Amino acid sequence: MPTVALIYPCGALFQRGEDRCQSNIDSSTATAMRACNDLGYAASVLKQKGFHVFLKDYQTERLDFQHLIADLKNNSVDLLMISTTNATVFKDLNIVASIKRSFANISVVLKSALFFDPPADLLTQLDLRNVDYLIGGESDFIIADLVQAHFFDKTRLANIGGILYKSEGQWVKTCFSSWRDDLDSLPFPDRSLMNNALYLRPDTQEKQATISVSRGCPSNCIFCLTPHISGKKLRIRSPENIFEEIKQCYEQFGIKNFFFKADTFTVNKSWTTALCDLIIASPLAGKIQWVANSRVHPLDQETLLKMKQAGCWLVAFGFESGSPESLEKMKKGTTVEQNKAAAEMAKKAGLKVYGFYLIGFPWEKKEHLLQTQKLMFDIDADFVELHIATPFYGTQLYDMAKAGGLIPDTVLGKDYFNAPTVGTKFLSIQEIERFRKTTILKYHLRASYILRKLKEAMFKPVILKNYIVFGLKLIGNTLKK
Ligand code: SF4
Repeated sequence: MPTVALIYPCGALFQRGEDRCQSNIDSSTATAMRACNDLGYAASVLKQKGFHVFLKDYQTERLDFQHLIADLKNNSVDLLMISTTNATVFKDLNIVASIKRSFANISVVLKSALFFDPPADLLTQLDLRNVDYLIGGESDFIIADLVQAHFFDKTRLANIGGILYKSEGQWVKTCFSSWRDDLDSLPFPDRSLMNNALYLRPDTQEKQATISVSRGCPSNCIFCLTPHISGKKLRIRSPENIFEEIKQCYEQFGIKNFFFKADTFTVNKSWTTALCDLIIASPLAGKIQWVANSRVHPLDQETLLKMKQAGCWLVAFGFESGSPESLEKMKKGTTVEQNKAAAEMAKKAGLKVYGFYLIGFPWEKKEHLLQTQKLMFDIDADFVELHIATPFYGTQLYDMAKAGGLIPDTVLGKDYFNAPTVGTKFLSIQEIERFRKTTILKYHLRASYILRKLKEAMFKPVILKNYIVFGLKLIGNTLKK
């Protein structure tokens, strides 16, 4: 059978497996690199079909191009799948071009949210001569069919939803209008091929697995890719199926820390409670810890207490803004009061809070930014990220920024810290970047914040060391031009 290589290519750290945000990890404040589950899922489904699989995350291994070339040669690779992002796509295509100079016969698949039903003008910006297929749909449900069709029967390509393939030199798009509900039917990501020691909980540096527990979101936030790429229907795995994966991680790979990847972990209360109850009643109760994302509304104290009891130690909220006008215009469906109440409830439940904020929407003036800054300080979360809104292709924000003349050339190659807009209608991008950096520094250099962190890390040398490392990284990133 042919050999398929699944890779994150060399370069800076990006959250390639998280299509919604594709975060720049090197520039972030406290976010850690998460596991390459997209590659792990692809490995499992390909192995089920009998293909030989090679998997490596070169960016997180900090390995260079020469290592990649040596691996492709040593493993006699026939087809290569690269997970790419909005920010890295040009660099990744350069890597593909260099690979093809040495291995002309390797077929190349690029996988990214970028290619979800892409408009023609996006494709024309990219040099895709060396690429054979683009996957924009959910790659775990697609890759095995695509590879089988490629090697054994190309007539089947047209029936595989969520891809683009070439026919007579032209890209042909298949169906992008439906999502698979049967999440339990997927095998677990193949962690025997993933280097689990690369993906660590940031404070303790223990191994941390990502468990994808649900997909899709019924909300309509104008900046978010989820409704576009994962659909507006919440699709969930059964608690039993999720628990089996947790158990496998614990028993086979010695992993005790988890990130439950869900666009909205708490939106379906009975499901969240059922999963927590399963953990609480299991022999793993008290032995594992985990983190999850949550909307601030709907949310209640009971759910947060249950999460804490089941091992949750941190909850991440997309507070986004302290401006009522901005929350409304971005269609977040939440209020400033709900932001504050959610943070309060989480703290009361004994959970740490990770707050995410966004500035730089087309309508925003300095007063909106100051309202967001005030909310950051009022909520006083344990960890924060302040991002500049990035108008990804496929979002309503993209259409708005484009129509307003706020995107000078392209959004491709940019991220939350290198936003592609000229700014808002009222503020230049330089003013917004300056505001972001000043706010981040002010927030973390408060005596009360530093004292709190020191108190938390007292008698815990590993945590203390990691707080210092992240603090230095934060100051370095914030001061650099
Ligand atoms: S609530 Fe908004 S930001 Fe969060 S996943 Fe849903 S659409 Fe995206």
